[in-house]
Amino acid sequence: MTTLLKRLLALLGLFGVAVGADGAEPPALVIRGASVFTGDAFAPSAAVVVVDGRILAIVPPGGAVTVPPGAIEVDGSQRFLLPGFIDGHAHVSHLLPQAGVTVEEILPHYLANGITTLRAAGDTLDVQQRVQRYSEDHPERAPRLVMASPLFDKQPPYHAGVSLGITDPAQVPPFVEEMAAAGVWTFKIYVGMDRRIGSTIIREAHRHGRWATAHLRKYHPLDAMEDGIDSLEHIESVFNFLTPPEVPEWLLRDERTHMSVMAVEGLRRKILEEQIKTDYSHPRATELIDALVRNRVAVNPTLVVYRSWMLLSDTPEVREHPDLQRTPRRLLDYWLSIADGAGASPETQELRRKQFAKLQELTGLLYRSGVELMVGTDAPFPFCPPGFSFHQEMELMVASGIPPAAVLVAATKHNARAINLSSEIGEIAPGRRADLVLLDANPLEDIRNTRRIAAVVRGGLLCDPVSLLR
Ligand SMILES: [Zn+2]
Repeated sequence: MTTLLKRLLALLGLFGVAVGADGAEPPALVIRGASVFTGDAFAPSAAVVVVDGRILAIVPPGGAVTVPPGAIEVDGSQRFLLPGFIDGHAHVSHLLPQAGVTVEEILPHYLANGITTLRAAGDTLDVQQRVQRYSEDHPERAPRLVMASPLFDKQPPYHAGVSLGITDPAQVPPFVEEMAAAGVWTFKIYVGMDRRIGSTIIREAHRHGRWATAHLRKYHPLDAMEDGIDSLEHIESVFNFLTPPEVPEWLLRDERTHMSVMAVEGLRRKILEEQIKTDYSHPRATELIDALVRNRVAVNPTLVVYRSWMLLSDTPEVREHPDLQRTPRRLLDYWLSIADGAGASPETQELRRKQFAKLQELTGLLYRSGVELMVGTDAPFPFCPPGFSFHQEMELMVASGIPPAAVLVAATKHNARAINLSSEIGEIAPGRRADLVLLDANPLEDIRNTRRIAAVVRGGLLCDPVSLLR
């Protein structure tokens, strides 16, 4: 494929290109002796050969390795090779301007952590287009980006800067058409949307061959599934619909402006006390989980944003997490300023811990029931450091009872399906784009070993995680 054609396709957002900084393909690569992830185990190899940014061959042990001219050789012995990670829920324009941080500053944090692709989950189009251009020009510093629509929400929207407030279904088709033409893949329905408009968004996204996802509150997941939704963002898009109907509904920020701090805290406590009693064996839960499996609707739990921001931002395990030392100072200061203003009451901390345990229990149950899970972070929400929080999310999923191999499949193969790149990335196989992570230790023995990154390969380009963070 010519570089021109690939640049054109990249502009359309169909897939990013990994070319050298001068526009040429990176040199060939031979990774010798690595154990290669197969989806449930690691298989030994003599070499993995990469040419023109793609995997040319996986040479079995004892096989003859043909080294392409000019190839860079990497020692993979005693090391573990995985497909490049895909952060299945990240924001590139949301919250960063408030913190005075540019997206270019944080992109290397993703790549250094083995994340070679970002699935945007609600951002402005202009910033995403800028990131795509930057990523194309600097594949050695940035993951590729698959663009998302802004959040389709009620009017006025919940997150004003990254949303489209819609009041009439007739407004939807031109927006979807324009964004699909600009290369947006993921169309996201947000919390204020009801079924009347939400179903139009799904229909229009599908009419353009795109993916519809949702963070649900007003729109019931069974209705959204009947209307054809492809995935659900955040475990609460399932959890909130399993609690008994008599549990009071949590109010959105603009719905509680008239309430006193005491009244808001009282409501929060009441909801927590009821929600932690949620019975996952109730027919309500069985019906919803069965529908998720039957419709192959992927669920992206984003446990890390619940632990680190929504529920336990005042706890030492969050405030003193070692990953925060690697977060740009201005971003951390911004997080601290809004977290301290949010005023989580110490009296509800135990309840909030129980609530988080309930979310983890549900995540494990979804896995055991056969729901396809994704791995996403919601970075840069407070205390979810870009890149590093991806490992935290995988750790939280394993702690929820999901085997490490299944979490790694979710982090790669499942996330690739959600961005329509299954035939390109997400698995190590001949012909696939060479997005790879080489680890110094086996992540199946301890998921925390995904942090022990020896090298990252982004479209065939070898990247050094240490210098990326400098
Ligand atoms: Zn989000």
